[in-house]
Amino acid sequence: MLPVRPGLEGCQPYGAPELDVPVRLNVNENPHPPQEQVVADVAAAVARAAAGLNRYPDRDFPALREALAGYLERESGVRLAPGRIWAANGSNEVMLHLLQAFGGPGRACLSATPTYSMYPEYARDTLTEYVTVPRRRDFSLDLEAVTALMRRRRPALLVLASPNNPTGTALPPQDLRAVLEAARGSGPREPAAGERDRAGSQAADCVVVVDEAYAEFRRPGVPSALELLDTYPHLVVTRTMSKAFGAAGLRLGYLAASVELVDWLRVVRLPYHLSSLTQAAALAALDHSEELMAQVASLRAERDDLVSWLRGRGLDVCDSDANFVFFGSFADREAVWQHLLDDGVLVRVVGPEGYLRVSVGTPEETALFRRSLSAVLASEA
Ligand code: PMP
Repeated sequence: MLPVRPGLEGCQPYGAPELDVPVRLNVNENPHPPQEQVVADVAAAVARAAAGLNRYPDRDFPALREALAGYLERESGVRLAPGRIWAANGSNEVMLHLLQAFGGPGRACLSATPTYSMYPEYARDTLTEYVTVPRRRDFSLDLEAVTALMRRRRPALLVLASPNNPTGTALPPQDLRAVLEAARGSGPREPAAGERDRAGSQAADCVVVVDEAYAEFRRPGVPSALELLDTYPHLVVTRTMSKAFGAAGLRLGYLAASVELVDWLRVVRLPYHLSSLTQAAALAALDHSEELMAQVASLRAERDDLVSWLRGRGLDVCDSDANFVFFGSFADREAVWQHLLDDGVLVRVVGPEGYLRVSVGTPEETALFRRSLSAVLASEA
């Protein structure tokens, strides 16, 4: 018998089914492969890095942090010093670093459900308690419930995905500001690391993490939380190259925060966590951000069409600021999922009962999805 740690009993490895089907619309990838020149430049950069593989990589990867800061400025107009950027193998790992630095035994991480199903896993893996508050019926944030719970539980972290997965809904800026104000002084009361020598034990702020994995797909007029970083030192904004950037295979996630906060993440990361091949490939890809992101506008337009089309079929469909659409409600969503799969279209069973999530694919893929779903709806009528 193995001495498996308490809390892991009955747990399964996380992940959507990896099925080999023609149309994969289940994990919110960008359906467009990188263009030839991007592939060639990434390959050349990786080859150059391979020549130095006898050496460990740059531990603090300053060149990559600078390139990511440059990208964020181009994307949202917010200029940040490279020391305010952190990166790891996917925003999954970035988030784990946050929980490792600010969570831990006796501490809580708060989120609003339905939301990304990895959050409870980061909490479990760092022995942090995961506390949730339900979203309203329209999946918007229940501000009163969130702030009441913050006052009562004094969480070390509040994690909010915007746009949220699986619903696709973005957090309105006034709600984010309200949450950031409520988070001041509502973190844990015991002295945090580094504050032990100070007199008294002032209440810490609650670290507010806005997970902007899908931010590039937001509709015009929806601001990024990056704009609030200078006002709120307890704000963290996470991003990824996996979605709009079309580089899910690269495994490169990153965040922006204060230098002080980033310095705590440097304490908990494993040394050399970002391989020199990853750093080289990411830098080369960032040089091509415009080409890689070329399809974002067309994916947004496809998404808006898909939302209207689904609504036109009488379905309940969330407004989406992401590259996926959340729709329902079906008496038997598993049956609908299976019907689509039988037609070679893989979507995701996730979130509240009766709903499905579909990623925006190429126009051809979306057409196959529509055809298959139309058949289901016709058979139900
Ligand atoms: N946050 C959200 C809301 C997501 O949906 C995902 C991926 N499905 C991630 C983070 C993780 O992305 P990655 O680790 O590929 O950067």
